[in-house]
Amino acid sequence: MQRSRIFCDICVEKCPQKAITRNGEIFTIDSVKCAGCYTCVNVCPRGAIQEDFFEDFATDELGD
Ligand code: SF4
Repeated sequence: MQRSRIFCDICVEKCPQKAITRNGEIFTIDSVKCAGCYTCVNVCPRGAIQEDFFEDFATDELGD
């Protein structure tokens, strides 16, 4: 059985800060641009982005 990955890019398109980019199979969120609105979490049809991904961003901002 073959499986193929589907990258729909809806998070890239819907992010109001244009903070998400994709290079091949790698998605990157720019922590400087990200406003923490969770639009990407809410629009992903496969649940690939979770709110706890953003905890590192908050930690970085606090300097921990
Ligand atoms: S949480 Fe950040 S990366 Fe996700 S849609 Fe909002 S601004 Fe963009």
